[in-house]
Amino acid sequence: MKDESQRLNVLPSGRDLRLPWHLRLPAPLERDFAEFFRNSVAKVAPWAALNVVVLLVLALALELYISPEVAARTWRPRLLCAMLAVATILVARHAEWRRWLHSASLALAFSVALTGDWIGMRVDHPLAFSLFLQTSLAILLMSVLLRVPFYWAVTGSLAMIAALAASLHNSPHIDHQLALVLLLLSLASASMSLFGQYIYERLLRQHFLSENVLFQHRDELHSANRVLESQATVDGLTGCLNRRGMESRLNELLHGFGRGGTGERASVLLFDIDFFKQYNDTYGHQAGDECLKTVASIPRALTQGDKDFVARYGGEEFMVVLANTSLKDALVFAERLRTRIEQLGLPHAGSRVSQVVTISIGVVCASERVSDAPGLIKCADEALYQAKGAGRNRVAYMSDQGRVAML
Ligand code: GH3
Ligand code: MG
Ligand code: MG
Repeated sequence: MKDESQRLNVLPSGRDLRLPWHLRLPAPLERDFAEFFRNSVAKVAPWAALNVVVLLVLALALELYISPEVAARTWRPRLLCAMLAVATILVARHAEWRRWLHSASLALAFSVALTGDWIGMRVDHPLAFSLFLQTSLAILLMSVLLRVPFYWAVTGSLAMIAALAASLHNSPHIDHQLALVLLLLSLASASMSLFGQYIYERLLRQHFLSENVLFQHRDELHSANRVLESQATVDGLTGCLNRRGMESRLNELLHGFGRGGTGERASVLLFDIDFFKQYNDTYGHQAGDECLKTVASIPRALTQGDKDFVARYGGEEFMVVLANTSLKDALVFAERLRTRIEQLGLPHAGSRVSQVVTISIGVVCASERVSDAPGLIKCADEALYQAKGAGRNRVAYMSDQGRVAML
């Protein structure tokens, strides 16, 4: 109980929600985040990839207009890029392929960057050198539009810039100064794009972390509430419902019975252990508790319906409620219960009716005459009282006419 109330006070602290500078979350969360990230990126990736296709077509159209010889050399690498862009769109749109999304995006960005370098080196045209700038475009595409994870984007950018440096070094058209300018431009664009990607991923991770921690605490609160709720309605010693639980279940079951409501014709059995005071006196209070647990387990094992239940009504007094059961069937049940407990053979030297623990039972069935919980309990109690008076270890019942009789 104390543990539960302590748990209830544990609300998310600032520390739970703070993200480290390197962005990594604890292992199980990191795995969940990867999936969440991929799914959130999957919504924008097709549009970004579609943009690439449009840009490639426009570039090709421009080249065709400026110089058909140039277009004759560039259309193949451009087509390769367009195919990769289409593949990326397909991967993003199919949930089962989505785990390849970042790889596809990275491959697309690489192909855009490398084909730029390739064309820049091979095509002998004054404008061809500008195609080396495709590296910076590809980095922008990868980091900001396609949202490749930050660390992938850093590694990818470095590899693309290294490839650009190698291509510029080998290019016959580019002098050192121009090569340096192109490299610096690519580096500047890479750092800006990666910074944007870092901020974006940080926000996304922070959002994910807050939601996750809050959900976890909400679930903990729910389960703590469930435990408290069951503690409030269950008897700690026997595991039966306590009086409060019994009242709510019985009212729920009987609700509206006999008044055209949805309630059921339930039977109520009230039983009490015979000479239990003497049992405690003879064997001690602790043995008395054990006896209560054993006795309570019998009606719990005998009740079968979903709506039937057993409750501890008082000290050593229990109630069994049988839903949708006639008086006749309830009496059969009561007699079986009485014999089963007698057959347990729990020694009871202090009893004046038997050598073993026995019970007396009062039974009543809901009718037009009595249909509410307090009325039924009163009738069952009256029948039980008479069972005790008639010698104990027996079943008494109240008929629909309100007369008590022995079984
Ligand atoms: P009767 O046959 O008339 O029912 O006689 P009885 O001695 O059983 O009388 P009564 O029902 O009034 O006695 C109740 C006794 O049950 C009194 C109390 O010592 C004992 N008791 C009540 N609650 C507990 C419990 O939680 N544990 C134990 N060990 N004994 C309990
Ligand atoms: Mg008793
Ligand atoms: Mg009693």
